[in-house]
Amino acid sequence: MKKVVIVGSGVVGLFCAVRLRIAGAQVTLLEAEAEHPSPFGPIASAAAAGMLAVLDAVPSPHEQLAIESLKLWRELRPGAEWADGVRFDGGVHVRANADDAQNFFRNAQRLGLDVSALNAGQARKRLGLSKKLENAIFVGDEGTADPQRVLTGLAMQARAMGVVIEYHRDVENVTQSAVMTHDNRVYEGDAVVLAPGVWATEKLMRAAPALKHVQPAKGHVVAVETDATLGPNLHAPDFYMVRRREDVVIGATMEPGRYDRRVDESKVDALLDAARAFLPGEVKAEGRAWAGIRPMSPDGWPVVGPSGDVFVAAGHSRNGWLLAPLTAEIISAYVFSREIEPAWAALAPSRFEAS
Ligand SMILES: Cc1cc2nc3c(=O)[nH]c(=O)nc-3n(C[C@H](O)[C@H](O)[C@H](O)COP(=O)(O)OP(=O)(O)OC[C@H]3O[C@@H](n4cnc5c(N)ncnc54)[C@H](O)[C@@H]3O)c2cc1C
Repeated sequence: MKKVVIVGSGVVGLFCAVRLRIAGAQVTLLEAEAEHPSPFGPIASAAAAGMLAVLDAVPSPHEQLAIESLKLWRELRPGAEWADGVRFDGGVHVRANADDAQNFFRNAQRLGLDVSALNAGQARKRLGLSKKLENAIFVGDEGTADPQRVLTGLAMQARAMGVVIEYHRDVENVTQSAVMTHDNRVYEGDAVVLAPGVWATEKLMRAAPALKHVQPAKGHVVAVETDATLGPNLHAPDFYMVRRREDVVIGATMEPGRYDRRVDESKVDALLDAARAFLPGEVKAEGRAWAGIRPMSPDGWPVVGPSGDVFVAAGHSRNGWLLAPLTAEIISAYVFSREIEPAWAALAPSRFEAS
């Protein structure tokens, strides 16, 4: 049986663990932090909003991969330990003007998505708002994952399948076939997968040079109170609003180069002001705000594939939740030397090394 050691138990490492186990590997997952990650801690996956939104403002050559990953979410959910943490209620995208809305609509149609233009009253009804919204497009192919619930559920699922998960194991050194922790434990494997988010050290980067391409971008998220029922995610021009299992959040700032997770009240106020201006009288601060650090790649798409003597699954930027199931599929194909589809190969680290 192939032995695989994975470093990092964010959403990417956890999905890789489950997928590799299904493929028949004996999997050990090592995590530096404690079990039960908090949105206030360093794990980006726990701080995220959790939208599974395939469309961004700017069209990209990799959109089909996002659609493929959303499809995997739908296929993997039935019966999974985390099933009650994921919904597929779609998203309402409000664009700046009618032309912009039309372009967005055409792009969604071109991709074969379930999409419809909403008049102002329909948008209000769909989101359960008081205010009518102009230039709104409904995308049915969109979902939401509650980060806390799904991270916990994924760890439960992995353990139930036989994955060994060890917390408080800070990996200091890596070779092709072994991983060493800060307390001098050695874990041997036939393959090593690094999924450290934005937190790779110099030593990890020496083992996997692709990790050098991953840079931080801080993002604030603010919990709010609202009477809006939501269901679908709301993507307004200057913020988004998402209902999760236990809260509603608005987000998120984009602050490149920042590793600190200090909550900056001016950023929180700016998000709240944007939400209050867009939906007068409908949004109040709930009292919690936090900041997470996204692992950004130069083009905003993940870096997945061989680097040095190991495999990397990192740099998921703003879409790590959405793209984690597909990442796991690709990593499993690399580890078991299965065929790599051209669209998957396009995410390999070599795309940066060639330029
Ligand atoms: C504010 C915000 C909002 C976001 N919203 C969304 C969204 O709506 N939808 C979406 O799809 N994505 C969203 N994202 C992006 C998404 O959260 C990330 O892309 C994704 O979580 C990255 O997952 P990861 O597993 O690679 O990294 P992480 O979740 O950071 O996990 C990496 C793990 O590796 C561990 N680790 C690192 N180094 C070591 C080591 N040496 N030894 C052992 N363990 C180690 C860390 O402790 C950590 O637990 C958001 C991010 C932020 C910050």
